[in-house]
Amino acid sequence: MAPPSAPPDDVKARLRQLPKVDRLLGRPEVEALTARLGPRLVKGLVQDLLQRAREEVREQGGEAPAEDALVVATVAAGRQLLNRRARRVINATGVVLHTNLGRAPLSRRAVDAIAATAGGYSSIELDLVTGRRGARGAFMEIALAQLTGAEAALVVNNCAAAVLLVLNELAAGRGVVVSRGEQVEIGGGFRVPEVLARSGAKMIEVGTTNRTRTRDYARAIDEHDDVAVLLRVHRSNFRQVGFVEEPPLEELSALAKERGLLLVHDLGGGALVDPAEVGLMGEPVVQDCVGKGADVVCFSADKLLGGPQGGVVVGRAELVERIRKNPLQRALRLGRLPLVALEATLESYLAGEVDAIPAQAAMRRVPEAVRERVTRWREDLAARGVAAEVVQVGAQIGGGTLAEIALASWALAFDPPDVDGVAQQLRQGEPAVMARIQAGRLLVDGRTVLDDEQGPLLQALTAALRA
Ligand SMILES: *Cc1c(COP(=O)(O)O)cnc(C)c1O
Repeated sequence: MAPPSAPPDDVKARLRQLPKVDRLLGRPEVEALTARLGPRLVKGLVQDLLQRAREEVREQGGEAPAEDALVVATVAAGRQLLNRRARRVINATGVVLHTNLGRAPLSRRAVDAIAATAGGYSSIELDLVTGRRGARGAFMEIALAQLTGAEAALVVNNCAAAVLLVLNELAAGRGVVVSRGEQVEIGGGFRVPEVLARSGAKMIEVGTTNRTRTRDYARAIDEHDDVAVLLRVHRSNFRQVGFVEEPPLEELSALAKERGLLLVHDLGGGALVDPAEVGLMGEPVVQDCVGKGADVVCFSADKLLGGPQGGVVVGRAELVERIRKNPLQRALRLGRLPLVALEATLESYLAGEVDAIPAQAAMRRVPEAVRERVTRWREDLAARGVAAEVVQVGAQIGGGTLAEIALASWALAFDPPDVDGVAQQLRQGEPAVMARIQAGRLLVDGRTVLDDEQGPLLQALTAALRA
C-alpha cells in the first residue's frame, strides 16, 4: 500500500502554529479548571481539542485556531462536562413523574431526614434499644404493611429488581403464566418476558393481545405440570380499548388458590391513595390488590407513592420471609439514603399528610389554583418587561402511570424569535429549567413547579426572555 501522501508545506507550517498541550494547560483559565477536575481529565479535553483542530487544518485547509480560542474552547468543554452532572432542575413540563427528571421529588420531611443522617453514622442496622444488630428497614416494613393491608413488606432497589427477585424465589425452574396482553415494556428497557427469563422461570403465554380469560389460565395450568405462579402485570404506560377482556383479579386469585399456586401482581404505580379522588380513574390501589387476594404485590416507591427510588414487595408473611432469604435480596437491597427518605415519606402517609408529598400535591392541585399561580407569574414577568400569555394545557402524570390521562392544567406561553435557543438556555441555566415546546411556543406549566422554585423560575425566565 502506498504511504499516505505527506502534507504540503503550508499545512505543516499551520500545524506548527498550534500551541503545545502544556502551554494551554498553563493558562490561568485552564489551571482554574484543573483545580476542579484534576490534571488528567483536563489534559484529555485539551488533547481532544488539539486533535480536532489538526484534522480541520489537514482536511479543510483552514488556519490553525489561535491560542486564546483554544483556551475558550477548553473552558467551554469543561463547563459542558460539569453540566452533565445530575443537577437540580425546575420541572415546568407539566409531567408530574418525569422519568428523565428523576420521577418524584422528595418531600421536605424526606429531605430533612436525609440531611440529618447522611453526613454521620446511623442506626441503619443497629437496634438502639438492645445495642445489638437490628433489622434493616424495620420501621419502613411495618409502615408499608400497615398502609397496604399486607401481612409483611420488603424493599429493594426498584420495582424491576422486586419483580426479578420475587420470580426468582417463587418460580425459578418452574412455569409462570402470563397473558399475551401483559407482556409489556416499561421505559428504561424493563421487558416482562426478559426479566422473567433472567429470573430463571419459564414463561407460559396465554390468551391473545387483547383478550385473555380465566379459562385460558386454567387450561395452561392443566397443560403444564410445573406451574408455580400466575403473574398479573399492570399495563402501566399504555391502555387497551375496544374489544378487550381480562379476568378480574379476584377470579385469578380464586383460581390460584384452587390449584395451589401463587398470584403475583406487578403493579408498577403503587398508589396508596386512590387517584380517583382527584378524578384520575383506572389506576389500581395497592390495598385493593392485596385485598382481592394477590399473594405478592410489587410496586415502585418513586411513582405514585412519591418517594425515593425503590421497589416494594408486599404480601403474605411466609412468602415475604422466603423472598428476604434469597441471596439476590442482598444484591438488590435498598440503599441507606433512599431507605431514610422512604421512611420519612411513609410517615407522611401515616399522619394523613398526603399533600406534603410533592408528586401527590402536584397531581392533586385543582386547575383553578394552577391558573391563579401562572396568572401571578404573568403579572410579575410583565413588570419585568417579559410578555406571556396564560393558556390552558393538558399536563400528565407520567412515570408509566395513568397512561393517556391528561390533567387539566395551565401554562405561560412565550413566543420568542428563537424558541429552541431559549429552551436550551433555560436548560443550561442556574437553576436549570425544563420547559416544553408545543406548536412553536415555549410552554411553562404551572402544575409541576414546586412552591419554593417560583422565584428562581421567574428570574430564569426573565434572563432568557427579556428582549
Ligand atoms: C414502572 C414499572 C416497573 C419498573 O419499575 P422501576 O421502579 O422503574 O424499576 C415494573 N413494572 C411495572 C408494571 C411498572 O409500571
